Amino acid sequence: MKKIPYGRQSLDESDIQAVTNVLRSDWLTQGPAVPEFEEAIRAYTGAPFATAVSNASVGLHLACLVLGVKPGDPVWTSPNTFLASANGARYCGAKIDFVDIDSKTYNLSPEHLELKLKQAEKNGVLPRVVIPVHFAGQPCGMEKIYQLSQKYGFAIVEDAAHAIGAEYKGEKIGTCTYSDATVFSFHPVKVMTTAEGGLIATKRKDLDDKLKILRTHGITRETGLMNKQSEGPWYYQQIDLGYNYRMSDIHAALGTSQLKRLDQFLKRRRELATNYFHALEGLPLQLPWQHAETLSAWHLYAVCLKLPKIKKTRLEVYEELHRANVGVQIHYIPVHRQPYYSQFGFKVGDFPNAEKYYEATLSLPLFPAMTDEEQNYVIKTLKEILS
Ligand SMILES: *Cc1c(COP(=O)(O)O)cnc(C)c1O
Repeated sequence: MKKIPYGRQSLDESDIQAVTNVLRSDWLTQGPAVPEFEEAIRAYTGAPFATAVSNASVGLHLACLVLGVKPGDPVWTSPNTFLASANGARYCGAKIDFVDIDSKTYNLSPEHLELKLKQAEKNGVLPRVVIPVHFAGQPCGMEKIYQLSQKYGFAIVEDAAHAIGAEYKGEKIGTCTYSDATVFSFHPVKVMTTAEGGLIATKRKDLDDKLKILRTHGITRETGLMNKQSEGPWYYQQIDLGYNYRMSDIHAALGTSQLKRLDQFLKRRRELATNYFHALEGLPLQLPWQHAETLSAWHLYAVCLKLPKIKKTRLEVYEELHRANVGVQIHYIPVHRQPYYSQFGFKVGDFPNAEKYYEATLSLPLFPAMTDEEQNYVIKTLKEILS
């Protein structure tokens, strides 16, 4: 069996055609493909406003920026995430803190959040923004997090890098019903791809207006926003310190094409997840628990080894799987354990659920083009290694 990766993109002729069409057109960037992609995402997710950007990491930066995060402002996120969830706020100079995860969903725990908020209120240092991460594609307990935001006065940015197409209480992630903004990633291992790419959805027009200016150097061409009359058709003004965080037309065209295939991708991901649930029952594994109010996008299928019942370490299981060409991966090393973040005073034991989860987790291969034969091979190999 050829090496089976934990995730990979699915591209077909229609995707390749969409990209080559842009290459043959007049515009490689700042043409019609980006607004078309934004419109398609709005139509699919129900997002009121959408701003495409060069990747989700800068999307998280801009989301924090437009929500007014200033140096020293507290921003809280999950320790069980990719570094970018915290880095985006750090680019604004935020003081990062973490809220431990729920040991069933592996998502930021609303109960831990409430306890931490009560303590923070006593200390007079409430967060400005909280960034829940829809880990593996399963939405967080957003309603409770939203209620807490109303009570304690913080903004919410959903890190939905894993969760395009996921649903919470019957709505697609991206509507921002329980948040100010939602950030998607279109990196190739994610649920759909633009190669590099991200998008910020929001329900607030004021935020969307700022996002569109900040992703392109802080420039506006709208006379209403200028401090004096236009000097001619060429005229623009820089009204803020923005960035070049634009998505190109090449990337956006790939995104619009992939979005047409997203429901197919999700269907196959859900099928593969269901197969794993059935086939892995009875093994010394904790399978991914799903909340009844959520429908996961199944970016990842993460299992936890019940190590006391297995006479091997997690490293041994990982290595044996890789030797058999099963490309399992580990998501995630808790962010507070990274040297860059430990310099802010975090230490081992600060977020025990995330640390305990990290010690035992393995993400099994899962991607739309994975064949039944490949999945059966993964299951058979895992069974042999765990027996
Ligand atoms: C991949 C990922 C990001 C960053 O996405 P990019 O588009 O690669 O910048 C952010 N958060 C999480 C949880 C991710 O998995």
